[in-house]
Amino acid sequence: MFCKGPVRWVFAALATHTFWASARSVERAVDSRGLTVDPTVVILGGGVAGVIAARTLYERGITNFKLFEARGELGGRLQSQTIGVSGDEWVIERGANWVQGTQTDDGPVNPIWTLVQKHGVKTQANDWYGSVSTYDDTGAVDYLDIFDASSDQYTTLTVAAGARVQKQLVDLTARSGYSLVGAKPKTPADMACEYYQFDWEYAQTPEESSWIASSWGNNYTYDTDDGGFGDDNLMSIDQRGFKYFIQAEAAEFLRPDQLLLNSTVTNITYSSDGVNVTLTDGTVLLADYVLCTFSLGVLQNDDVTFEPALPDWKQEAIQSMTMATYTKIFLQFPEDFWFETQMGIFADSTRGYYPVWQNMNLTDFFPGSGVIFVTVTGDESVRIEALSDDEVQAEVMEVLHEMFPNVTIPEPTAFYFPRWHSDPLFRGSYSNWPSSFFSGHHENLRATVEDRLWFAGEATSQKYFGFLHGAYFEGLNVGTQLADCINAGGCAGSTHIAEITNALPYTI
Ligand SMILES: Cc1cc2nc3c(=O)[nH]c(=O)nc-3n(C[C@H](O)[C@H](O)[C@H](O)COP(=O)(O)OP(=O)(O)OC[C@H]3O[C@@H](n4cnc5c(N)ncnc54)[C@H](O)[C@@H]3O)c2cc1C
Repeated sequence: MFCKGPVRWVFAALATHTFWASARSVERAVDSRGLTVDPTVVILGGGVAGVIAARTLYERGITNFKLFEARGELGGRLQSQTIGVSGDEWVIERGANWVQGTQTDDGPVNPIWTLVQKHGVKTQANDWYGSVSTYDDTGAVDYLDIFDASSDQYTTLTVAAGARVQKQLVDLTARSGYSLVGAKPKTPADMACEYYQFDWEYAQTPEESSWIASSWGNNYTYDTDDGGFGDDNLMSIDQRGFKYFIQAEAAEFLRPDQLLLNSTVTNITYSSDGVNVTLTDGTVLLADYVLCTFSLGVLQNDDVTFEPALPDWKQEAIQSMTMATYTKIFLQFPEDFWFETQMGIFADSTRGYYPVWQNMNLTDFFPGSGVIFVTVTGDESVRIEALSDDEVQAEVMEVLHEMFPNVTIPEPTAFYFPRWHSDPLFRGSYSNWPSSFFSGHHENLRATVEDRLWFAGEATSQKYFGFLHGAYFEGLNVGTQLADCINAGGCAGSTHIAEITNALPYTI
């Protein structure tokens, strides 16, 4: 079966034979009809990274690939959901919701923005900083001065991080950074405003986050001085779902026989000769190259096993980055009774307790929908995922009663939130970079194994981890490298660092 020469797709029933009996060539070969046969590529995961990697192979003349996706549609963490009472239903976004940064003048353009425009996805600019109402557990309280100060403190934090990079200083937590720039939140309002600037983006606390990496994640996206796209945040309000742009893009090049939906991978067995991939139904698929775009959370939690186990340097990289969780909780009410601004902040004595609220009932969003949502992140997301929907709804309603003490609040007609942390296809929402994660780790997270197993996804993006555009650029970069490798008749893959060592070792 594995003679040198043309390598064909092989779907076997169950693995009853030795897969890597002989070395396989990765050079293009000629079949019996005189046609060139390319090496085979399997792309695992149909999110933005997987689709853009597939498109890149296609654009570079490599068509001998197949894309496997566990879910019944493409999009990955772009997922929509219809909520609401019959006759008043709205498509909301369980996952990614905003194009973060678009383009400023003729500067760099966010490629997600390009695709959103190309496929006519309906978006609406969100004013996160100029349309905000503030509350605490006594009701409406104006602490916009604290909000503005906290916005300035966040800017100071990111600028100071840039100076550390230039001086090649070690990383610290963003909490250390905040303290060093003099920002030390004490009151619930201080904490809620800091949360809005920081956790609401990174889905983890400043204590859990790298000072340097969180700052460049922000700057490379938003700050035009650092090559960022600009500070727009466009919310998808498209009733086909935000996912529409990537599904429409895939439809332009992906042949039906190249896409296998509802195909869940359980095992990846690799060697320097090639890779075999086992699905839950026992199908075994053999390929010359596999590109794995599963989330960091999936890799961390052994939802897919690797044989042999991934090398130590790879496992250290996977386990050293963090998969954070970001949870939007949607409610629909028969009428609105809340603020008229776009955003609301709730300051509780417990930091991160149902803190950020968004009004969808506005003319530019879902007018007359009666829809509002609140976001929690990190440990709070994990906590509420363990509760029943009724228990979470009761907590949310209690907060609303505190925010609006003089209002008779009706029962919601719809209540919905997704459980990203528990979902075995994701195990969280997006990656976050802790201060103990070094740039060498990041190189290793991205690096190939045995030159046959490739990795891409938002988490492998050094500049844009966590973002849709990070997944896009990684799909593009890794797709390009893989195509170059195949077109060259094989390659050495990317480099990795065997052991990440201290620049100045500890002396004991
Ligand atoms: C709640 C939330 C809010 C977000 N908000 C934003 C935002 O507003 N703006 C922004 O830019 N980014 C946002 N993001 C991040 C963005 O969604 C991700 O960075 C991006 O979608 C990741 O794409 P990916 O291709 O790397 O991974 P994924 O989209 O996770 O693709 C991987 C694919 O692998 C599949 N898979 C997993 N396990 C298996 C298996 N065993 N077998 C087969 N297939 C499998 C999954 O189903 C998935 O489709 C948000 C994410 C979430 C969850």
